[in-house]
Amino acid sequence: MKIKFNSLKENILYTESLNLPTKCFIDGKYQDSNSSPKYSVFNPYNGKLICEVTCASKKEVNIAVKNARDSFNKGVWRDLPPIKRKNILLKFADLLEKNFKELAFLKTLEMGKPIRYSATIDVKLCVSPLRYAAEAIDKIFGKVAPTPNHAIATITREPIGVVAAITPWNFPIMMSLWKYAPALALGNSVVLKPAEQTPFTSLKIAEIAIEAGIPKGVFNVITGKGEITGKELALHNDVDCLSFTGSNNVAKLLLQYSGRSNMKRVSAETGGKTPNIIFKDAYDIEYASWQAAFGVFFNSGAMCVAGSRILVQETIVDKVVAILKKAASKMNSGNPFDPNTRMGPIIDTEQYNKINHYIALGKKEGATLALGGNTLLNEEEGGNFIEPTIFTNVDNNMKIAQEEIFGPVVCVISFKDEEEAVEIANNTPYGLAAAIWTSDMAKGLRMSKRISAGSIWINNWEGHDQTVPFGGFKQSGFGGKDKALEAFDKYSNIKTTWIHIDGKGVN
Ligand code: NAP
Repeated sequence: MKIKFNSLKENILYTESLNLPTKCFIDGKYQDSNSSPKYSVFNPYNGKLICEVTCASKKEVNIAVKNARDSFNKGVWRDLPPIKRKNILLKFADLLEKNFKELAFLKTLEMGKPIRYSATIDVKLCVSPLRYAAEAIDKIFGKVAPTPNHAIATITREPIGVVAAITPWNFPIMMSLWKYAPALALGNSVVLKPAEQTPFTSLKIAEIAIEAGIPKGVFNVITGKGEITGKELALHNDVDCLSFTGSNNVAKLLLQYSGRSNMKRVSAETGGKTPNIIFKDAYDIEYASWQAAFGVFFNSGAMCVAGSRILVQETIVDKVVAILKKAASKMNSGNPFDPNTRMGPIIDTEQYNKINHYIALGKKEGATLALGGNTLLNEEEGGNFIEPTIFTNVDNNMKIAQEEIFGPVVCVISFKDEEEAVEIANNTPYGLAAAIWTSDMAKGLRMSKRISAGSIWINNWEGHDQTVPFGGFKQSGFGGKDKALEAFDKYSNIKTTWIHIDGKGVN
């Protein structure tokens, strides 16, 4: 579906015409009472209040989980013939596509992503996971084990039950879809808690799910703050699986909550400090450098895979940095509803302050500030913008090279040879991804084996589609993958049924 880019004024008028959902969507309807606690959602572009939204407390969380459990126990979804579930999910995908203009604008409103990207890249990224999961439903078979002749043993996959998904703000539609698409495909019931900054798209999608035919209670969305709503959900004794994407610190809390409650299964996709490694024998150094710039400045740097460490072979550092600077200058910041804007605001003041802290720290640690470093505060309206920022002469042991900044800030680190590149690449607590640019494929493949990361991109940045799993090593993730058929594992239990053909109990 193509969305026409209108003028800034028309885009704003269209957004103002939208109805903003503000209450939790449970059991097929917006249903919390006016006395439910609220929190404020602010526009990241100008810092102004958009509206008040329900902050689900223990009471609302209990209602959502109970409805999910009841729908699961009654089998209204999981017991449907697989072909029916498949057709409903395919219709869900079609309706998402049909509603994408509204979803794209809601997304730009809630997280400040430039409309040119919300309305293009994101459409493709959002619908395909759902179609892929739907299509898999009637193509995945169980197994029959190689038993002695008197027995038959089947190995079957069953839905785990109630899946809670807790997701971040940086790709609010896609990160959530990666969770609920496979979870629903398997027949589970879901309670989704999106990030507090980005409630509107998820609530709107819950409405669309009902229109598609997903039975009431199967897909619920509760809004609220992590330390209240998220914590209650993660501690809930009737949640069977907690699927999380977000920061390491919160992932570590969720493990504790699981241990303190019912030992629910926890899977987490967390942060990264991805190395983007450019060798002097790269096929095209200029192309690699442009890709490296895109890989860290896109989405204002708010990407788990952001290539926030660009490792450059020492003889080509000047050339690469010159191209990075040129690419950075094209990232024009501005109102995200302006179709010409390529870089939107930072999500909120907390994140803005965090990024500025790291820029100050980089200077203090002795790195060279080669570009940017300034805040572009929209004086008139108060929004938070930070210039694309490049640090050179960075030592990999500096904090700016070790810790996730989650902003448009990149560290350029030089290396001598393959050995040193591997050592630097692996030397952080993270292991989400790595890119390697070289025309020596043997070297690329050797590096791929030695770098500890869940995704390796040789001569490309972020190569992926729905057929390949995504997830990190080390402190970038654990407990299963998102995407591809591997995503089905965390939302299902494997059952063995051992049958004696002649009815006698001898093994
Ligand atoms: P975050 O602060 O960890 O929040 C993620 C989610 O957890 C939000 O819904 C948040 O609610 C909730 N939460 C916070 N505290 C909680 C608690 N005590 N109990 C239960 N839930 C709680 O992360 P973020 O700032 O939204 O997103 C940025 C992080 O996500 C980065 O580290 C980034 O690398 C990571 N990320 C990873 C991937 C991946 O696939 N590996 C993809 C995207 C992003 P609130 O919004 O109310 O705080």
